[in-house]
Amino acid sequence: MSTSNILNADLHCHSVVSDGTLTPEVLAARAKTNGVELWALTDHDEIGGQHRAAAAAKAQGLKYLTGTEISVTFANETVHIVGLGFDPDSAELLQGLRNTRGGREQRAMEMSDSLAKAGITGAFEGALKFVGNPELISRTHFARFLVESGVCRETSEVFRKYLTEGKPGYVPHRWATLQNAVGWITRAHGVAVIAHPGRYNFTANEEYALFTEFKAHGGMGVEVVTGSHTRQEYVKYAETAREFGLAASRGSDFHSPDESHTDLGSLPFLTGELTPVWELLAERVQ
Ligand code: AMP
Ligand code: MN
Ligand code: MN
Ligand code: MN
Repeated sequence: MSTSNILNADLHCHSVVSDGTLTPEVLAARAKTNGVELWALTDHDEIGGQHRAAAAAKAQGLKYLTGTEISVTFANETVHIVGLGFDPDSAELLQGLRNTRGGREQRAMEMSDSLAKAGITGAFEGALKFVGNPELISRTHFARFLVESGVCRETSEVFRKYLTEGKPGYVPHRWATLQNAVGWITRAHGVAVIAHPGRYNFTANEEYALFTEFKAHGGMGVEVVTGSHTRQEYVKYAETAREFGLAASRGSDFHSPDESHTDLGSLPFLTGELTPVWELLAERVQ
């Protein structure tokens, strides 16, 4: 395993096991075609696709790290924590993720009620048609239904007009705590990584608190190069990684060929002064 920064690692993407549109097998083949050298499937709040993804990676001759992306509530905002290289049979992690998924169906029914008040009916049933995992109904599935039914032209427009704070269809939700999410991953021998920090609406003080508490709970990495960041944010979060002594991760956050701007394996490499997260995980690579 290379521990070099010049490695086409893609350590963030989604399958039908959460809100992606491709199966783990099709994703593995696409990663291989696109030149990915080290891959992780990181479904939201779910590791039910890990054994399939690892087997598919092996069949493609691709190195693999287990992965997930846990929804966390921090300072009244939703933050995503990616876990990499954990033991996928960890009972504590499995139970923690099951609890985190637990409120999604009720939330979806409330989202549907809220959309109905705005004149959009049948959204719960409509979203369900796009769901691959009944425990993992997400806003993305609602977005696909709103596109299919002609309410919006594309999913990004749905999020602009619906499903986000202050808009119809938005239902606040309490996810896992930062301490629990980092603890579940770390105690399962994995590495916790702050996903796409540039996406949160934190003040500088809140962001500082997030990184400080994440470190204190045992978090070790941050996504620097992700499909969610601008080039300026690559530079900003490379600096944050150095300031907090965190390793850097790289991942497209690919969900679907029709929706994602960034394909698997297509991002710039990590720059040389960063410690790549795969350097911490060399023994966990399959
Ligand atoms: P949920 O976990 O149900 O709250 O859904 C979160 C998911 O919605 C994210 O993982 C993204 O896939 C998707 N999402 C959130 N915001 C946007 C956006 N502005 N444009 C497109 N997709 C988004
Ligand atoms: Mn998603
Ligand atoms: Mn995310
Ligand atoms: Mn993601």
